[in-house]
Amino acid sequence: MSATPQLSIVIPVYNEELNLPTLFARLFPVLDGLGRRYEVVFTNDGSADRSFQLLQAQHKARPDVVRVIDFNANYGQHMAIMAAFERVRGEVIVTLDADLQNPPEEIPKLLALMDEGHDYVGAYRVDRQDSFFRTYASKLINFVRERTTSIKMTDQGCMLRAYNRAVVDAIVRSGAINTFIPALAYSFSSKPGEVGVKHEERHAGVSNYSFYQLIRLNFDLITGFSLAPLQYFTMFAMLSSAGSLGLVALLFYRRFVLNLDRETFGVFTLFGILFFLLSVAMIGIGLIGEYVGRTYQVVRARQRYHVREILETK
Ligand code: UDP
Ligand code: MG
Repeated sequence: MSATPQLSIVIPVYNEELNLPTLFARLFPVLDGLGRRYEVVFTNDGSADRSFQLLQAQHKARPDVVRVIDFNANYGQHMAIMAAFERVRGEVIVTLDADLQNPPEEIPKLLALMDEGHDYVGAYRVDRQDSFFRTYASKLINFVRERTTSIKMTDQGCMLRAYNRAVVDAIVRSGAINTFIPALAYSFSSKPGEVGVKHEERHAGVSNYSFYQLIRLNFDLITGFSLAPLQYFTMFAMLSSAGSLGLVALLFYRRFVLNLDRETFGVFTLFGILFFLLSVAMIGIGLIGEYVGRTYQVVRARQRYHVREILETK
């Protein structure tokens, strides 16, 4: 690599052999047209298809601008981005999906905002092209996040984003165990900006996220950035125990003062209350487990991913 690049594009790749050729064909003309020195850092996240071979070929074709980090296994989109963040050389860093859902042609819009002095620019998807379920589930979770954390983002799920060097360094230093990079970036940024971008249907293949992973990711987001679930839970538990207490008092009042409910008083009512309290306690244990698990992960400080090989020109 001749001079240090001004711009680093970071792209996680997992089983994208059908998309990569189109991605290359659309991305590079945009970047070449910017008139900035750039590099593209691909992380091959343990793809089982020919993605790595395609990346390798691209590295051969454009060794000056293409770098490839090759994971030995699949560690997930956010780890793939982290690995690239730890190695980027640019002053401005842009993340992008490999499946062309974020059109590369929108990159200049983000850069324009960065040039205006923002240190972090998020994008929100105008006219989102995902399944009905994905779109609405994501709206719902956006709403919950908005209220439980101090993070203001129109669209947390859109990975087309630009960060300046300082924000990326802060993310890397935080050793983020909570995997939600856009939210982390927001918390480290001092002048965040946002811009609307086009969204396209996945060019080929299917989403790599299962329903379960989406739930995990969003649970991570909320527990990773705020203690609100724990606090709401405690409030709820206090209210419900006060309620149960009131109910018991009412039952006693009806039975012993008004002399009613002679047959029904007793065992069934108490069972009802008991079951309710038990379920509240169980939710609590689950929540505490979530935080303990998180602490455990940090304390254990295990290597989060393993790089098999890096293709790059020094
Ligand atoms: N990805 C990855 N590792 C994974 C899953 C996904 O690197 O375990 C990449 C994938 O190749 C794509 C991006 O992350 O570039 C977004 O993935 P996907 O399109 O499957 O997610 P969706 O758009 O459905 O949220
Ligand atoms: Mg996608």
